[in-house]
Amino acid sequence: MTGTAPDPDAPGHGTRLRATVDELWAVDVMEPLTAFLRIPDLSPAFDPAWSEHGHVAEAVELIAGWCRARPILGLTVQVLEIPGRTPVVVCEVPATPGAEAAGTVLLYGHLDKQPEMTGWRDGLHAWTPVLDGDRLYGRGGADDGYSVFAALTAITAVREHGGAHARCVVLIEASEESGSPDLPAHLAAMGDRLGTPGLVVCLDSGAASYDRLWVTTSLRGFVSGRLHVEVLTEGVHSGIAGGVVPSAFSVLRELLDRVSDPRTGEVALPEMHVDIPPARTEEARTTGAELGAEVAAGFPFAGSTRPLTDDPAEQLLATTWRPVLEVIGLDGLPATADAGNVARPALAVTLSFRIPPRCDPAIAAAALRARLEADPPWGASVAFELESLAWGWDAPPEASWLTDALDAGSLAGFGLDARHFGEGGSIPFMAMLGEQFPDAQFVVTGVLGPASNAHGPNEFLDLPTARGVTTAVAVVLEAHAARAT
Ligand SMILES: [Zn+2]
Repeated sequence: MTGTAPDPDAPGHGTRLRATVDELWAVDVMEPLTAFLRIPDLSPAFDPAWSEHGHVAEAVELIAGWCRARPILGLTVQVLEIPGRTPVVVCEVPATPGAEAAGTVLLYGHLDKQPEMTGWRDGLHAWTPVLDGDRLYGRGGADDGYSVFAALTAITAVREHGGAHARCVVLIEASEESGSPDLPAHLAAMGDRLGTPGLVVCLDSGAASYDRLWVTTSLRGFVSGRLHVEVLTEGVHSGIAGGVVPSAFSVLRELLDRVSDPRTGEVALPEMHVDIPPARTEEARTTGAELGAEVAAGFPFAGSTRPLTDDPAEQLLATTWRPVLEVIGLDGLPATADAGNVARPALAVTLSFRIPPRCDPAIAAAALRARLEADPPWGASVAFELESLAWGWDAPPEASWLTDALDAGSLAGFGLDARHFGEGGSIPFMAMLGEQFPDAQFVVTGVLGPASNAHGPNEFLDLPTARGVTTAVAVVLEAHAARAT
């Protein structure tokens, strides 16, 4: 500790930090965050003409402008540009005096967004922010526009209380929702500016409830691509051809059944499975017992639809340490209202596999292609075109100082201690960092709790949770600096 820094363990310190964070959110964050929600800055995968459209530039300008206006001594804000790639916003904050030996903390988030999607409730829309009680609705607030505001607000709060923090680098990218294709080039161009982060704080993950801090222990990777099936060179009358010409749809069904059991949802490729570490199974049992029916309660099941399994621990493992297939796109079939009696000549589907941590995505993709393309039903033309893949991530063992700091941060931000669980989604950057900085400690956390619906309609940011996470980050920054001083 420096002579002037307050004792992070002093009674009431966490409460005071939380009060400062609440005020900073009200005064400094709500307005620019709401303005940010109006910008349709889709990730490049969903808007190949993102550069001409200018929405990414607008979002970057808003965020970089807000960052520059923070009253943080020594703060530098830079927008990194590489032709043809989405930009990255990098903020650097020097260590508080006396905490220089604490190394570097890397704080990460992203500003690009998923597309609108349909199904927003009446009065809500992706690009029209609506504040309803404690929830701020709109695309890209919880995933993940709040992150830069949370990161710099946490740093500001620490400093306002005379607290200590290490050198901080806040990195906000704009291609995360596309699998972070632009990030490696930026990291290469940055050289050793990142330094060797001893602590990585990622603010793009989920929460199993809104009453405490949730720390992510693992993320899934992915393999996605397009499966093409062709049986005719042109469509023909289905009444005349049916029974002789194989149905493209049936061929497709048979191929999909090869790789995923339609009755259980189980992925049939051994290359996409891993041995689940016993400690993670144990974690799922403990968390599953505590959460019970809450694990699946956030999903908007229609009618009498049931979950694939009722066991909460199995549900947690199924969404984290096991692979799964979803068919997320289909070409070649007319909408039902336009359907004619025509045997479809060709169909294509987009396959999205999530794969568990430690599963090699290249080996998984090769096995998938081989299985789909081998011996096609009725000799149909079948091709699998790989689009993207990424490694999952498994957190390194957590240092005891960090476990304590997370509990203290969760208590300050929420009034309850922290919990750990795995996440079903992917953040490709974590795998890149884990490989590059094997000694770093990770705090992967976020605000995406039950029903917050990132990627779907009615996405919302739960504001008390956002402020709670911000407070917890402030507490962790202080605890990290206190170790080295
Ligand atoms: Zn995200």
